[in-house]
Amino acid sequence: MAVPAEKHQQAKITERKDYARDLWSIRILPGERLAFKPGQYATLGVLEGEQVVERAYSICSSPLEDEIEFFFELVPQGELTPRLYQLQVGDTLMIRRQAKGLFLLDGKSGHTQHFLVSTVTGVAPFVSMVRTLVRESRNGHFSNLRVVVLQAASRSWEFAYREELEALSRQHPWLTYIPTVSRPWEDVGWKGEVGRIEDVLRKYVDTLGLDPANTTAYLCGHPQMIENSKGILQRRGFAKEFIREEVYWVPKKDGK
Ligand SMILES: Cc1cc2nc3c(=O)[nH]c(=O)nc-3n(C[C@H](O)[C@H](O)[C@H](O)COP(=O)(O)OP(=O)(O)OC[C@H]3O[C@@H](n4cnc5c(N)ncnc54)[C@H](O)[C@@H]3O)c2cc1C
Repeated sequence: MAVPAEKHQQAKITERKDYARDLWSIRILPGERLAFKPGQYATLGVLEGEQVVERAYSICSSPLEDEIEFFFELVPQGELTPRLYQLQVGDTLMIRRQAKGLFLLDGKSGHTQHFLVSTVTGVAPFVSMVRTLVRESRNGHFSNLRVVVLQAASRSWEFAYREELEALSRQHPWLTYIPTVSRPWEDVGWKGEVGRIEDVLRKYVDTLGLDPANTTAYLCGHPQMIENSKGILQRRGFAKEFIREEVYWVPKKDGK
């Protein structure tokens, strides 16, 4: 068997939610607990003969939850996501025993403001961070913490975590959630913010007082959004070291 048991374990799917034709989340319960920090990713896979086809996925759940949650986008021509898409509650998948990644909340600079910017599934690590902060905040008051989550999707039903993040932002004054829809003509009932991240980023930095001297920015998801947003933030005065990024895929040379 080419799958070393010391590296992988199996996990059962306990829940699945479908949000759009190509967007869904699952919760899994591995045999052994996975240690991770909010913002980190796990490596998930399925067995293909004797090999594991595997990819990285940011963890949505908090380490304080028993189950682990992921939010996926189907890439129809992809190697793994069409296989993951077939899996239902009760099925198993493979998960590496070690979570990885340095896309963590900045706890070193002393910045009290955190600007979490994502496209679609890029919200996953931010959901983990927010859920964890919410649970930690029950033990004490965050006097000067501020977390702003800006999430873009083509249409509002692609946000997936909107209801949860809106509810939490009503309960916790330190949290602001701004969903923005980039194809409002395909979502005529949408009453919220419109535009791509690049269209609205600078506006929120300024109107919410996200001063570069006291703010760390985090960019997650679409590679082009990350590249463009980095430029906008740098021109606004953010130093490179206070812009963290998690790029989900590398575009092909033809730009796709
Ligand atoms: C640290 C990290 C965390 C990640 N977290 C998540 C997550 O939480 N949820 C999630 O859905 N994905 C996440 N990804 C992306 C994931 O690892 C896979 O790349 C993705 O699921 C596609 O896998 P695949 O095998 O189906 O496609 P592949 O066979 O790997 O890719 C096929 C082609 O599609 C391109 N491609 C890959 N992903 C996309 C996409 N989303 N849109 C358009 N083109 C794409 C690739 O560049 C390639 O050209 C993460 C990636 C990294 C590096």
